[in-house]
Amino acid sequence: MPTFVRTDKCDGCKGQDKTACMYICPHDLMKLDKDGSETGHAMKAWNQEPEQCWECYSCVKICPQNAIECRHYADVVPLGGSVQPLRGTDSIMWTIKFRNGNMKRFKFPIRTTPEGSADPKAGKSDMDRANLDNPEILFTDDLHSCDKSQLVG
Ligand code: SF4
Ligand code: SF4
Repeated sequence: MPTFVRTDKCDGCKGQDKTACMYICPHDLMKLDKDGSETGHAMKAWNQEPEQCWECYSCVKICPQNAIECRHYADVVPLGGSVQPLRGTDSIMWTIKFRNGNMKRFKFPIRTTPEGSADPKAGKSDMDRANLDNPEILFTDDLHSCDKSQLVG
């Protein structure tokens, strides 16, 4: 289910050089049409190659305007239905709309620590980047010599 941008909601991330959806897309599919020459919608982003979409929904979750939606397969969600995530700082809300008008919402926690508090090193010391090319030293819980008998080749 590739994504599409709702032009009525997108504000082009207020004209920043790189929009949130452009920043997050792992396949560089999202693009901002600054002057409207490519889509007819100035300062609106769009998914320029839906067939190449990984369907990861990173753009859907990061969009501050909640302007990106999933284009559902007709055989999975009949036309008229929709599934839309809305990410918060500690949870994500999925809104499911059925073609008969029924709506269901599911809210799931997405983290157990405050947003922005992740510590990638978690108290570990800085690694010595010079050792990255050294096959005898591996980066596991810290830099230390490995058992050479375990090395392949
Ligand atoms: S992240 Fe959302 S608001 Fe920003 S440019 Fe993309 S679609 Fe528009
Ligand atoms: S769903 Fe993933 S791959 Fe597709 S446009 Fe959004 S961020 Fe890119």
